[in-house]
Amino acid sequence: MSARTLFVTTALPYANGPFHIGHIMEYIQADIWVRFQRMHGHTVHFVGADDAHGAPIMIAAEKEGVTPQAFVERIAAGRRQYLDGFHIGFDHWHSTDSPENVELSQSIYRGLRDAGLIDVRPIEQFFDPVKGMFLPDRYIKGECPNCGAPDQYGDACENCGAVYAATELKNPFSALTGATPELRVSEHYFFRLSDPRCVRFLREWTRGDDRWGEPRLQPEVLAKAREWLGAETNEGGDGGSLADWDISRDAPYFGIEIPDAPGKYFYVWLDAPIGYLASLKALCRERGIDFDALLADPATEQVHFIGKDIIYFHVLFWPAMLHFAGRKTPDRVNVHGFITVSGAKMSKSRGTGISPLRYLEIGMDPEWLRYYLAAKLNSHVQDVDFDPDDFLARVNADLIGKYVNIASRASGFVARQFDGRVLPADEVEDDAQRERVARLAAQVSDAYEEREFGAVARLTMAYADEINQYFDANRPWEMAKDPAQRDALHRVCSRCLVAFHRLTVLLAPMLPATAARVAELFGTPPLRWEDLGVADGTVSPVRSIGRYSHLMTRVEAKQLDALFEPPAETAKPLAPHAGAGATTKATTPTVSIDEFARIDLRIARIVDAQPVEGSKKLLRLEIDLGEERTRTVFSGIRAAYEPQALVGRMAVVVANLAPRKMKFGVSEAMVLSASADDPDRPAALYLLDVHEGAQPGMKVS
Ligand SMILES: [Zn+2]
Repeated sequence: MSARTLFVTTALPYANGPFHIGHIMEYIQADIWVRFQRMHGHTVHFVGADDAHGAPIMIAAEKEGVTPQAFVERIAAGRRQYLDGFHIGFDHWHSTDSPENVELSQSIYRGLRDAGLIDVRPIEQFFDPVKGMFLPDRYIKGECPNCGAPDQYGDACENCGAVYAATELKNPFSALTGATPELRVSEHYFFRLSDPRCVRFLREWTRGDDRWGEPRLQPEVLAKAREWLGAETNEGGDGGSLADWDISRDAPYFGIEIPDAPGKYFYVWLDAPIGYLASLKALCRERGIDFDALLADPATEQVHFIGKDIIYFHVLFWPAMLHFAGRKTPDRVNVHGFITVSGAKMSKSRGTGISPLRYLEIGMDPEWLRYYLAAKLNSHVQDVDFDPDDFLARVNADLIGKYVNIASRASGFVARQFDGRVLPADEVEDDAQRERVARLAAQVSDAYEEREFGAVARLTMAYADEINQYFDANRPWEMAKDPAQRDALHRVCSRCLVAFHRLTVLLAPMLPATAARVAELFGTPPLRWEDLGVADGTVSPVRSIGRYSHLMTRVEAKQLDALFEPPAETAKPLAPHAGAGATTKATTPTVSIDEFARIDLRIARIVDAQPVEGSKKLLRLEIDLGEERTRTVFSGIRAAYEPQALVGRMAVVVANLAPRKMKFGVSEAMVLSASADDPDRPAALYLLDVHEGAQPGMKVS
């Protein structure tokens, strides 16, 4: 196959909170596929972005007293530690609140309008007279029109499951102000998906193949699409069962203005997928690539990785928008299921019991998770379960007991007795063994391409088993005692090390950091697929091995306990339990005024702030308390603040807290902050503001 050019995306996360484990699973899936393509020498543009617009973000920002822009910027600033932490190699991370996205969204809209696919119609909607805005369904509450249950949302009843229009609620009220909403008429813009042209196009597109003759959609996704698109007998008829799509919202709205329509904004779901293109465009500018030419090139493959909850948007709205605006449509939409933890479904607001940041903070190896999830992923839309006992057993058995075991057993003999010299592959393998590896490489390659990562794990571990058995059967520890068997010993151990290197090539998309260490161990360049040495004209580059050091440690049960135990109290009984969302209840016992007076609260100026190497949580602050010298404080606010943004700012500190010796140094005070006390929202931390005029050292009482 000649070199491919791929444009690969993952779904855009909504920028109202940090990543949860579901995001990380999707990024790991896409990242493995992308790394596999790159190891074959293909060009991949792998991009992501924050989905920044919409009413929920506008309202959340307002509650915090910040602009929506500042709100989403702070969320964006917290992304890197997750992506780096789990070795997710995006080329670019962007935002839908960007000039590229404004331009592209407006241009795509104009294309649809010129194609005669935009309608304007008056609709009746609830309006909050206090807030002065039309209310999204989630912000209208009332009694269920079906069962009469009180306090139900405007779209569905949580008591009886009925689905209805917000206007059908009895005794409706605004969830924002409590006011009784008024029905008002407003002009809305619609994308005419019911147009026979759209239905005809989508019926054909959803059934279509990619350029390699493989179906563009997974069978279960195609089945869903066909349900939505209605009976085939409607072909070219009255427009099947697709409803037109309301793509406008009235001001005030955090979004992109609709051209020639004052006071109207694109509904967030219109400009969200266009963010894929916006991110690619920003990357192209960064790298001096011609964006228009790249997308116009029929050889460029556009591949999306998404979850099963957003199929509708990606196999109906998105291709139709692109097609009728005269643009390239996706080659593949790869849909995965949800992640469950010990069989329990994830809650939308709380995520699962696994906080990805906590996973990293307690020092668990990101590649354990990459391998474990990969071993459970396949090309189908199936949920993946994280089971702690299974995780421990699987990672330790496969990665430590089978894979790493080969190197740790064979390398010692080669290093001690043969000066690290490894015999080349063609001297230690016979034809049958070589053919076995060539077959394995082809099977693994196909499995990666088809996202059958579970099959990759099975195939590679079966080969690791064979090599371990070969090692055992030859008893090298006995050969080592017999000078007559010296050459045989060298051959056996060399063959094991060549096999280990090949296993590493095959596993490198899942274990990129380990693969880099192995390349270093063998003194070879970064691993490429051709390093397997099984294709015509290629050879395994393994000739010597350096000093072996542990490549990976075992999972300990206590680490999993730590992952699931509720986070330790941050011991801040005096920290005000205010903060965004006010999710914490103040339940601390009362203190007397004398007890309170023992706490020496002071104003301090932050004169320096630095990240702490080796900690994803802490910042090292130098604070001025009006004393002769500054004090050093370690503060767990890294998820919420960029260090440089803190320099010069005032804070409230506990000045007489006993100095605490920490792993990174001694902390000589405590900086107070408000927090949501929520492991899934580590960035929900807020330093206290000090009014202008207060000076360092002033007492707070
Ligand atoms: Zn009901």
